[in-house]
Amino acid sequence: MKILVINAGSSSLKYQVYDMSSETALASGRVERIGMDSSILVHEPHHTDETSEVSEILDHTTAIRKVLDKLTDAEVGVVKSIDEIEAVGHRVVHGGETFKGSVLVTSEVKAEIRRLFDLAPLHNPACMMGIKAAESNMPNVPQVCVFDTAFHQSMPARSYMYAIPQVLYKKHKIRRYGFHGTSHDYVSKQAAAVVNRPLEDLKIITCHIGNGGSLTAVQGGKSVDTTMGMTPLEGLMMGTRSGDLDPAIVPYTMSKEDLTVNEVNSMLNKHSGLQAISGTSSDMREIEEGMQNGEPNATLAFEMYEYRIRKYIGAYAAAMDGADVIVFTAGVGENSATVRQRVCEKLTFLGVEIDQELNKIRSKEPRYISTPNSKIAVLVIPTNEELMIARDTYRLANNAK
Ligand code: ADP
Repeated sequence: MKILVINAGSSSLKYQVYDMSSETALASGRVERIGMDSSILVHEPHHTDETSEVSEILDHTTAIRKVLDKLTDAEVGVVKSIDEIEAVGHRVVHGGETFKGSVLVTSEVKAEIRRLFDLAPLHNPACMMGIKAAESNMPNVPQVCVFDTAFHQSMPARSYMYAIPQVLYKKHKIRRYGFHGTSHDYVSKQAAAVVNRPLEDLKIITCHIGNGGSLTAVQGGKSVDTTMGMTPLEGLMMGTRSGDLDPAIVPYTMSKEDLTVNEVNSMLNKHSGLQAISGTSSDMREIEEGMQNGEPNATLAFEMYEYRIRKYIGAYAAAMDGADVIVFTAGVGENSATVRQRVCEKLTFLGVEIDQELNKIRSKEPRYISTPNSKIAVLVIPTNEELMIARDTYRLANNAK
C-alpha cells in the first residue's frame, strides 16, 4: 500500500509518499507561498534529482493537484497512476480532548476539527484546507487525521490542569494539551528498541528541540507531562517563542506599551526566544557561532536556552521518580553537540555521563551518546513524524477495508 502524508500550513504544504510494504519514503517535497505570487513546488523523488518549479498556486486544492502531477510524472514521479495511492494521512495540530488517537476523516470529524479552530486559530484552519484539498483531488481515497496533541491525552489531571478557576476549563477547555506528540511517541518507542527493554518498564524524558521545542515525561510508553501547554507557547525557550513567563507580564506589558491582544500574542510567539535575546537570530547555528565569537547576547541566549532544558529534565526526573533514558531529537537535538553537551554536563546528580567522542558523531542513525557507566542512557534519535503518520494511516485504512 502506498500512502501520501500531508502537513498543511496556511501558505505551505509538505508531503511525503510511503511504500508501506517496506516503510520506505519514495518521495517528499513542499509547496511554499500558496496564494502569493511566485509559489514554489520543490519535489524530491528519492530515485533521482530534486526538481523545483515556480508558478501561481492560488489555493491548497491546486497545490495538491500539482503535487499529484509530479507524483505521476514519467521522469520524477514515483507511481504510475494516482490510484496506487490508497490512503492519505494528515497532520492535524490540535485534537482537543476529543481525539485521543488517529481517526478516519468523516463529516463528524471535520465538524469537530472546526469546533477546535478557537484553540488553534493559526494551525487547525490550515490543516482543514489540506483535508478538503485532498478530498477534492482524491474523493474515493480514505483520509486519516493524526493529531499532535493525541499522545498527551494520557496525562493525569494534576499535569494538565492550570490552577485557575475551574469554570474556565469547563466552559472553554483551558488546560494543557501538549504538542509534538507524534514525535515524542515515535522517539520513545525507538528508544525502547535501542536500549532493548520493554517500553512498559521505562521512564523516558524526550527532548524534541527544533525551532519549536518541548520536553515530555514518558512513563510506560505514555505521556505523563509535557512542557507545551494549551498552545505551543509554554515551556522551553524557543527560536522565536518566549516559553514560560510570569503571566502577570502580559497585562503589565499591554498597559505599559499600549499593546493589543494580537500584538502581545505576536510579540510572545514571533519576536521572543533566541531571536529576542540574541538580537540577531532564532537559528541555533548562528547563536553558537556568535557565542564562539564572544558575543555577549548570543552567549546569554544560549545559556538561557540550555538552562531551561536542563531544569525541565530535572523536573521530569522528579515527576517520574527517576529516569532510565533521555532522548534528544529534532533540528537542535539531533545536530547540536554543544547543546547536548552543555545540558548533560550538569546532570551528574542524576548519574548522567556523556561520551564526548560519541556526542560529536554526526549520523542519521539512532545512537547512544552516554558512556556504559552512565546511570541514564542518553540517546540521539532522529525523529520521523511522517512515518508515524503513515503507519497510523495504513492501520486505519486497512481496518476500514
Ligand atoms: P521545526 O521546529 O521547524 O520542525 P527543526 O526541527 O527542523 O524545526 O529544527 C530547526 C532548527 O534546528 C534550526 O532553526 C536550527 O536552529 C537547528 N539546527 C539545525 N542544524 C543545526 C546544527 N548543526 N547545529 C545547531 N543547530 C542546528
